[in-house]
Amino acid sequence: MNPFSLRSGSIETLSIALKTPFITSLGEKKQTVNVSVRLSLAGGATGYGEASGSVVLAAHTPQRMLRELRTLLKKFRGADMSAMATVSRDVWKTAGKTPGAAAAFECALTDAVLRQLRVSPHTWFGGKKRRIETDCTLSADAPERTRIAALRAAKAGFRTLKIKIGKGGGEADFERIRAADALGRVRGKRPALILDGNQKLTVRCALALLKRCRRARFKTVLIEQPLPRDDWKGMARLRKSSPVPVAADESLRSAADAVRLADMDAADVFNVKLAKTGIRETLDIMAVARAAGKSLMIGCMQESALGLTMSAHLALGAGDFSFVDLDSDVLLEDNQPRGAVIRHGRFLSL
Ligand SMILES: [Mg+2]
Repeated sequence: MNPFSLRSGSIETLSIALKTPFITSLGEKKQTVNVSVRLSLAGGATGYGEASGSVVLAAHTPQRMLRELRTLLKKFRGADMSAMATVSRDVWKTAGKTPGAAAAFECALTDAVLRQLRVSPHTWFGGKKRRIETDCTLSADAPERTRIAALRAAKAGFRTLKIKIGKGGGEADFERIRAADALGRVRGKRPALILDGNQKLTVRCALALLKRCRRARFKTVLIEQPLPRDDWKGMARLRKSSPVPVAADESLRSAADAVRLADMDAADVFNVKLAKTGIRETLDIMAVARAAGKSLMIGCMQESALGLTMSAHLALGAGDFSFVDLDSDVLLEDNQPRGAVIRHGRFLSL
């Protein structure tokens, strides 16, 4: 018997309510419907992966992810999982048009194989850190509700707030940022602010907003994907004149994108997410970033604490992320499944 052959698997949907509706420039969400996959190897080890559903992306409806995961399970049942790189490549060839599903399956198979080998993913990724600090994300909400959210985050000890912008125009964005700055102070200290435009700004709007933030003495540390995904030239132009580093998120969906971003000098920070590119491709992106002298950020979708586990292993194990945006467990209600991730306010450990 080959202990690494895939014996069985189970796929489930998982509905978890958000503590407060999550609003971005793209839409609003009161609950997340995620799809989880558990894979069992003949040797007894099991692995877990989870894909977060989206109301915006057609490729990430729970129905489609369920379908893709069932296809993957059927295809790989009985197959040898030990050649993780080869299997992962096959998984992405089969289900790459639904990145969430492919990533969940890849996480589950990697988790299972490493458990079978009795190696922790944290160690496998480099074993660097024991604890990391995360930000807390605030919706693109009305200023009044942003105040409440910022105050709640400050009370929980968060010192970096990520604010969704690009909704309601520059004035609404500024008011939201101002509310976060004023109410998000911990022991009188201004919070560090990450502004996430989700592709909804122009170069001119982004620069005007950053200028206003600077005049108001906000501690803006990063602007994330203000421009449309394909506006590579715009990103490069913005990066040159921006007073704060520019991060690529939606523009970064493969290692090839990373090479292009580096070539065009179109971002200072590369935001990776296992949900976007899985494990193998993410490691390739990280290698490109390091070689090109770019900084790294790690983000998530709306995975449960259990679904965040592999991202936490990567963030802690690799240990070289300048920005850690792994906070979906904070935004979801407490009845979510828990894994090895331990949260103490703004800190994550395993
Ligand atoms: Mg983003």
